[in-house]
Amino acid sequence: MPKAQETVLEIDLKALKHNFEHLKSKLKNNTKFLAVVKAFGYGSDASEIAVYLQELNVDYFAVAYTNEGVALRRAGITKPILVLHPQAVNFKALIENCLEPSLYNAKILNEFITIASAEKQNDFPIHIKFNTGLNRLGFWENDVDYIISKLKSTNAIKVESIFSHLAASEDLNEKEFSLNQIASFKAIYTNFTKAIDYKPLLHMCNTSGILNYPDAHFDMVRSGIGLYGFGNSIKENQHLKPIGTLKTIISQIHLIEKDETVGYNRAFKSNGVLKTATLPIGHADGIGRQYGNGFVTINGQKAHIIGNVCMDMIMINITGIDCKEGDEVIIFDANHTAETLAETSGTISYELITAISQRVKRVLLK
Ligand SMILES: *Cc1c(COP(=O)(O)O)cnc(C)c1O
Repeated sequence: MPKAQETVLEIDLKALKHNFEHLKSKLKNNTKFLAVVKAFGYGSDASEIAVYLQELNVDYFAVAYTNEGVALRRAGITKPILVLHPQAVNFKALIENCLEPSLYNAKILNEFITIASAEKQNDFPIHIKFNTGLNRLGFWENDVDYIISKLKSTNAIKVESIFSHLAASEDLNEKEFSLNQIASFKAIYTNFTKAIDYKPLLHMCNTSGILNYPDAHFDMVRSGIGLYGFGNSIKENQHLKPIGTLKTIISQIHLIEKDETVGYNRAFKSNGVLKTATLPIGHADGIGRQYGNGFVTINGQKAHIIGNVCMDMIMINITGIDCKEGDEVIIFDANHTAETLAETSGTISYELITAISQRVKRVLLK
């Protein structure tokens, strides 16, 4: 791996392949794999990730919003793309790009039927989302008859899948709740499929669901965080490889006297002589102000972030660390993970990695 000369996010496609294969090994042979590449592929590079996973023959993709799906089509993705949270204003673009909407309430279902009919669509693939306990998006169990009556009133759409989402798949203390969600999903689709003469795909599991609820894999699973190398538990993390390395360099080193302060609002006060380094990465790059208690790694040694995180810079304490201006600094990698850094600041890997802003250069390792 080349040494950093500026702030870069390296994306290791070999690690991605490893994670994909590991997660697939948890599935039955005929279970389909949907790769979730929303939010720029969890802050990496959605197009590069999707193109590579398409080469590896993934079955499906999902994004959150329509414009993310349009970007994938422009990057040459031909596999089906589920749009998890579309808005009606984008339905024309969605149809033009053969993106498949998740429809989650009567309003959005009716809006889609109206636009798909106006666009003279026939059997346009849609996905029906049911709420089984997350209480975020989704029809309720007692909406089934209504949905069926709508489906029977039009030829414009066809249900490609019926799905739901687990609220606490990574938390085994909530196993009973998750099993109840799975049971109510089963009741819903049994009811639903009785009323139509074809069989939509059924899916429910995200990454932690894949790992913790093998009986709930149904026809397809939806994995995001696992592909990027996090399994939401110490045990599962051992089998996955974080694909992203965020690194930067030391721009400048300072010697600070006792009682001097560092950074805006003088938030850090030195209680002795120390050596600090300034790095070209800040909250505008995705290292939020809450990481003021975090640490980075230089030449294998831990260096704490001090003072307030600035927009374009952070300062770190390098007292006792053998390093010089221009040296490489690891913000996170496969050993000093995004999950660990996230934990120093009371958040989770998902938030840290998806926040890495588009200003940071992406470098692909193939
Ligand atoms: C983001 C998302 C996923 C992926 O979840 P991971 O925990 O990252 O695997 C799956 N399904 C839905 C509905 C999502 O919004």
